[in-house]
Formats: sequence, C-alpha cells, structure tokens
Amino acid sequence: MSEAEKNIELSIVIPVYNEEDNLPELLQRTLTAVKKLNTTSEIILVDDGSRDASQVMICEAAEKNPGQVVAVVLSSNFGQHAAVTAGLEVSSGKYIVTMDADLQNPPEEIHKILAKLREGFDVVGSIRENRQDTFFRKFASKCVNRMVRKLCNGRTMQDYGCMLRGYSRPVINAILRCHEHGKFIPMLAMSFARNVCEVEVKHAERTAGVSKYNLWKLIALQYDLLTGTSIFPLRMLTVCGFLVAAFGVIFGIVIFIMSQIDKHWGADGVFALFSIQFVLTGGVLAALGLLGEYIGKIHINTRARPQYFIEYVQGKKHNNAGENK
Ligand code: UDP
Ligand code: MG
Repeated sequence: MSEAEKNIELSIVIPVYNEEDNLPELLQRTLTAVKKLNTTSEIILVDDGSRDASQVMICEAAEKNPGQVVAVVLSSNFGQHAAVTAGLEVSSGKYIVTMDADLQNPPEEIHKILAKLREGFDVVGSIRENRQDTFFRKFASKCVNRMVRKLCNGRTMQDYGCMLRGYSRPVINAILRCHEHGKFIPMLAMSFARNVCEVEVKHAERTAGVSKYNLWKLIALQYDLLTGTSIFPLRMLTVCGFLVAAFGVIFGIVIFIMSQIDKHWGADGVFALFSIQFVLTGGVLAALGLLGEYIGKIHINTRARPQYFIEYVQGKKHNNAGENK
C-alpha cells in the first residue's frame, strides 16, 4: 500500500450493473458531495459485468479523476454483494461507505454516515425516510429484514435493505476473511461489529434504468440467506420428525384404549396401520434431520469463516491489529 493510499480516510464502494443512464449524474454528485466532506477519499466503482457502456464510462472516469475515482472491472456478472466485496478488497480507507449506483441513495447523505463512523461506530446502517419503492419491493424487503433480524441473534437493525451503509476497517477486514459464497454484507458485518447504529437518510425513486431484482432473484436471495447463514431449517426437520412420531404413538395408544371399549372402533385395525405409518414417517424425518445436522456441520466448516476476529491487542505488536489501525 502506498503512503497516499494509507492516508485515505473514506472509501466509497459502488457496484454497477448496466447503469449507463445513471453514471454521469452519480459521478458528478458523488464527487461534489465528497469534496464538501473535506477529507481524503476514493470512489471505487465496480463494474459487475455490465453489458452496456457502464464499463467504458467507469474506466474513463478513473482516467479523468486520478486518485479520486478507481475502476474495478469484473469479468462477468457475479451479483451485487460479490461486486461490493471486490470493491472492499481494493479499498484502503479507514472508513468504508457502500451505496447503490442508481441514485436511490443520495450521495449527499454520505456525510451523516461518516460522522457516525468518526464517532466510533463500527457499522452504520441507514433507515430510508419515506421509501420510494413499489409495494412489491417494499413487501419483499420487509420479509428479508425480518429474517435477517432473526438470524442476527437479536442484534437488530430496522432496515437492512438500504445499501448506503458505513463500516470501519476492522469490520471490513473481518468480512474479507470470510470466503463463503453468497455473502450478505450488511448481515455479515453485524456479526463482527461491536457498536452499531442507524441514521435516517433520504431515499429517491430510481430515475433511470430498471431494478436488477425480479421476483425470482429476491426469492433466491432469501433462500441463500437462510441456508447460507443458519442450519435452523435442518434442525426443524428433526423437530418435525419427533412431533410426527410422537403423534403416531399417542394415536396408537388412543386406538388401543378405544378398541378395548368398542371392538370395531378403528375400522378393524386400519387405524392402527395409520398410527404405525405416522411413527415410521416421523422416524424417517428425524433421521433426515440428523443427517442434515452433519451436512450442516460440513457446510459451516467448508465456508471456513474465522471463528473469531481480533480487533486489537494491547501490550504486544500483532499483525492483524496493525493492519486494522
Ligand atoms: N447490481 C450489481 N450486480 C447485480 C445486480 C445489481 O452490481 O447483479 C447493482 C446495481 O447496479 C445497483 C445496486 O446493485 O447499483 C442495486 O441494484 P438495484 O437498484 O437494481 O436493486 P434494488 O434497488 O431494486 O434493490
Ligand atoms: Mg435500487
């Protein structure tokens, strides 16, 4: 890392996928907003395999604004969070702010995030003031928010969907050490942060281009989130199995008692078959769940997420701590 790069206070990471209509205004407004911040900064634009002129425009911007704009070009479309991760890897700022390229997050709001980061917060989320999205989009992100909140062990944030967010360097370093696929950065950040807060930011309608998330992509994101972060569904399978088996046993007892009272109760043994069927199905489900637990363990181990992350060490020089400062 060069001396100049070491002194950068703020890196702004923006993923770009087919945003040629938004890029000129985005660049102009972000550069102006950053100038007003009176700090050392870099704007990192990550082209996520765009098929329009975005890539050329990003590279031109980097050429025109050396030291201020950095172009990162990915070889194909890897998805928003992968693109952000690539930008984070290139970033060198003490604080990192991520935002979307479609100007739904006004760059003029960055100062609010930076102020909170300077106060010492590790993760600064943002709440969208009168959110400008379609009903469907709002409903979908409500579902995502609820699930993320559940998965974050009670560590709550009101709004996970807004990508105008800030992170401190230690948190970003921790995220970069997680090599799993399908990362959801706002959530991953929560698991490494000590102090988190949220600020209200303005939210605008998308003025040009279309949303890159259709219904299918949103469902895929939810599914990814659930299976990528938790083995809860597998555990539920075991619980379901035991419940079904228990129901079968209780049903069997009821049939036995009733058949003692009335010989023909239970359709001459047909009901007993049902009860046996319940017990067997429950057993199979429980066994599947148990098998799933082992697969879940393999899943957790293969994603090789660090079990802990040292923020700093006092009294002895430590590599990681040095890198974080
Ligand atoms: N994006 C990306 N790769 C993708 C999809 C989206 O880099 O595969 C970028 C996109 O250019 C935008 C941001 O991610 O900067 C958010 O996308 P979008 O505005 O379409 O999502 P929405 O606001 O509808 O959630
Ligand atoms: Mg958007």
